[in-house]
Amino acid sequence: MTFDNNYFNALYQGIPIGGYTQMIENMLIGAEIRLGEDYLKHRADFDNIADKIIYTGSIDAYYDYIYGALEYRSVRFETEILDVPNFQGNAVINYTDRETPWTRIIEHKWFEFGKDEEGRELSKTVISREYSSEWKKGDEPYYPVNDEKNNEVYTKYKALADKENKVIFGGRLGEYKYYDMDKVIEAAFEKLEREGIRIKSI
Ligand SMILES: Cc1cc2nc3c(=O)[nH]c(=O)nc-3n(C[C@H](O)[C@H](O)[C@H](O)COP(=O)(O)OP(=O)(O)OC[C@H]3O[C@@H](n4cnc5c(N)ncnc54)[C@H](O)[C@@H]3O)c2cc1C
Repeated sequence: MTFDNNYFNALYQGIPIGGYTQMIENMLIGAEIRLGEDYLKHRADFDNIADKIIYTGSIDAYYDYIYGALEYRSVRFETEILDVPNFQGNAVINYTDRETPWTRIIEHKWFEFGKDEEGRELSKTVISREYSSEWKKGDEPYYPVNDEKNNEVYTKYKALADKENKVIFGGRLGEYKYYDMDKVIEAAFEKLEREGIRIKSI
């Protein structure tokens, strides 16, 4: 009997060795990091300390919603630690049937680790069930809703963004566009190249 338990269509799939954390740590070597800061709340201060700002927040929030709020779809996660070493045997299972209330279950250990530092099988596992949820202002925006109405509003914000010299708008919120990880990294490289910023390999 053969079966295919792959839930994605991309030909090449995976994550970098060490996960994205390691990649981002490398990118930030030598940089001053401040976490938990809202750029929009201290805009003038941040603008004063940098020649260029890369803004990855929502473009409508940047312009104080002057053309109205863009819509997003949100996701709610329910995470559980289970007393078993293996729950579903792989990182992601999607549920597309009408009866199941969650859209997928992630079992985190299968992404990268799955073993302890001595290489022993972990006796527990962590799973997250994902539930699709309506987005309202103030919620974490996850997926842009690229329908005609929202795209029209985004085009107006984009026209303002195109006139900015100091601020580069990037990513799923800054460009109001769904990106997978590989695509958003590629787009970031392209953006930097267009700005004449050389990418150094470490
Ligand atoms: C539920 C979910 C599942 C996904 N699954 C996959 C998958 O299986 N495979 C895949 O390839 N991709 C997946 N993605 C997509 C992937 O997460 C995105 O492509 C990637 O995170 C986009 O990077 P980004 O930098 O554009 O946005 P983000 O990763 O969201 O980064 C934006 C950053 O800007 C910060 N920010 C926002 N506003 C402000 C502000 N005012 N001041 C300061 N900081 C601010 C945020 O805190 C955040 O850190 C998934 C996305 C979601 C939401």
